[in-house]
Amino acid sequence: MNTQGERNSGIGMTGPRTRARMVERLREQGIRDEIVLEAMLAVPRHVFIEEAIASRAYEDTALPIGYGQTISQPYVVARMTELARAGRRPGNVLEIGTGCGYQTAVLARVADAVYSVERIAPLAARARQTLARLRQANVRIKHADGSALADVDLTFDAIVVTAAAKYVPEEWTRLLNVGGKLVLPLAPAGGADHQNLIVITRTETGTRQEQFEAVRFVPLLPGLG
Ligand code: SAH
Repeated sequence: MNTQGERNSGIGMTGPRTRARMVERLREQGIRDEIVLEAMLAVPRHVFIEEAIASRAYEDTALPIGYGQTISQPYVVARMTELARAGRRPGNVLEIGTGCGYQTAVLARVADAVYSVERIAPLAARARQTLARLRQANVRIKHADGSALADVDLTFDAIVVTAAAKYVPEEWTRLLNVGGKLVLPLAPAGGADHQNLIVITRTETGTRQEQFEAVRFVPLLPGLG
């Protein structure tokens, strides 16, 4: 059977059974939140990447999406969604770094509304198209610099940053509701080739910070691409 046939009939390397195996792996890797696992099962990762590499969509690896960027590894997408959800259903979620829109789609399944910003215009346009094709209606994608969000007038229950930050801009925590979670890969002081997954929770009086596992992301870059 040709690749297109496999894609259409839902079997082969991009079918629901392959996706179910990916979810089993996520469970073994320690993802516990059933709502997140359901979302990972529901979102077809292969439609977010080029057809030529679609057969690798459910491997636990980052893959190229053009413009020097990547689609995040399924484990990392699941883990960040779990940390952002924190056991409740978030209202508004902000994603910084749409890329191909895969993490956006997963977030959109566990939250009321997702706003996502991407600095590279063609990536934003393509992600918008893919999410429309999946009929994911509670998503807004904007071509904008996520490190310069002074004019945003919404606040969020969670902010998920999917590019490596060297520091935490003050406005990110300002955009959080009390109890809201900012989830980001933060470069350790001194510069290493990895980052640490950090969760900053906005409290009544300030913020609280927790550190999780090491991750590897493409850098957060200033300005529009
Ligand atoms: N969320 C994606 C991962 C995308 S990779 C997924 O689901 O797989 C990170 C993305 O962040 C890239 O597309 C990059 O262009 C974007 N990015 C980097 N710096 C940014 C900034 N300052 N503002 C908005 N997007 C940014």
